[in-house]
This record gives sequence, C-alpha cells and structure tokens, in this order.
Amino acid sequence: MLPALVLATVTALDGGAEPAGPPPGLACLPKWYPVKAVKADAGWAMRLPDGTTVPYDDGKAKTPAELVESPDMEDTYGPPYRQGPIVPVTAENDGPGRVRYYPLLEAAYGSSKRQVDTVRVTFFGKHVMVHRRVLEPFNRVMARLDEAVKRDGSVLPFLQKVGGTFNWRKISDTDRRSAHSYGISIDLNVARSNYWEWQRPKAPLVWKNRFPQAVVDAFEAEGFIWGGRWDHYDTMHFEYRPELLDPACRGPASP
Ligand SMILES: [Zn+2]
Repeated sequence: MLPALVLATVTALDGGAEPAGPPPGLACLPKWYPVKAVKADAGWAMRLPDGTTVPYDDGKAKTPAELVESPDMEDTYGPPYRQGPIVPVTAENDGPGRVRYYPLLEAAYGSSKRQVDTVRVTFFGKHVMVHRRVLEPFNRVMARLDEAVKRDGSVLPFLQKVGGTFNWRKISDTDRRSAHSYGISIDLNVARSNYWEWQRPKAPLVWKNRFPQAVVDAFEAEGFIWGGRWDHYDTMHFEYRPELLDPACRGPASP
C-alpha cells in the first residue's frame, strides 16, 4: 500500500506547486494590445513596448473619483460591461469603460498627437479619421450598419452628421485625455444624442437615450463600448475597448 500512498502524495504536491497564471484580465490583453504579462516580485505586471513594467493591480482601495483619476489596469474592468437589450442605467457610478488606463492606450495608439497614426474613412457620407489599428474593426462595424440600414431605414439619420472621431484633446474640465485623442472613438449624430453634461438640473442623473438597438449591437459586436451603458450617459459615443467585451478577459467565473 505504501508505494500507492507515496505516488498520491507526489501527485498532490505537483498539483499544488503548479504556478498560477496571470489573472484573466491581464492574460487576455496581448490579443488586443502590444503588451506582455510578466511576473514581478510584487505580483503580476504588464510590460509595455518601451520595456517599462507597470503593476496590473496596485492593491489600493479607491473612491469612484480616485478610480477615474489614478486607476491601475485591473480597475478598468469594473463594473462589468453588459451587452444586450438597451436598458436604462440607474445605479450610481455604473459606467463600464469610463475608467481608462492611459499607459495602455498610449502604448497602443501613441502618446502625442503626432504619434497617433490615423487613416481616413468615409462613414455614411462623411470623412472621419480613425487609428490605423482600429480600421478593420471599424470597417466591420460599417458593414453591419449598412445591413441594419437596409433592414430599417429609420436607423440612417443616427449615422449621419457624425459629431467627430479623432481629436487630440482633454476631457472638458479635467486633466485627462479624451478617448477621442487616440482615434478609437466616434460620436454619432449629436442632434439625436443625450449627454449627462447637458442635463438641467444636473442632479440626479436621469438616463435618456434615443439610439436604436441595431446601432448599439453593430458596434458592440466588433469591440466598441457604448456611452449609453453609463449612468453618466453619452449616447453618441462609441469607443474601441475590445478587452471589455472579450469574455476571456473576465475569466471563467464571469456571467
Ligand atoms: Zn465621444
């Protein structure tokens, strides 16, 4: 009996000694961004193309304001992004994707206006600039939208008179760069949009939207998040954040 017992013990030890891999939110990133997961002394970290290494999770508890001001990469995954039928957003600070980790965005898209490599595309009759890295998903969104317009002509006006795409600028009244700075965002027809900053009185936030489901579905299917999923609603805004729509980034326990 003894040899069998020894064997079982060795097997158990082997299993226990198996090194844990990077957390899913880090392990999935190289699929979407030019970064690598590395094990540092203090825990899992992200290696950027310039060789610098930043911790994946700084371990700090943060207020909602601190999350937006000084997040780590791990913070950008919460709250979870939910696709599917458009529903009013009523929970406070439910803004999946509003927290952005700038070292990642700058590594992928550029850290100065000159570095952002944009290409011109024609979006429903209007020329817009998008980052070369998002050109293919953006083209696939347009193909989906073409189909949506063929099925239902009432979708078209939402796609015309586009508000803007690439614009190297800060978010108004903040020191943070707008996602439009990287050529990964598009604002659709402003006249058909609802935006929390326009709301009067400004509090409490009362979510509003007029955009049709087909438009939202077309973008989300290709890795773009929608500002209509935020309590700080911005329904014209779509932004390429494929990691937030990739189930692999949430890991096996995610809904
Ligand atoms: Zn926008």
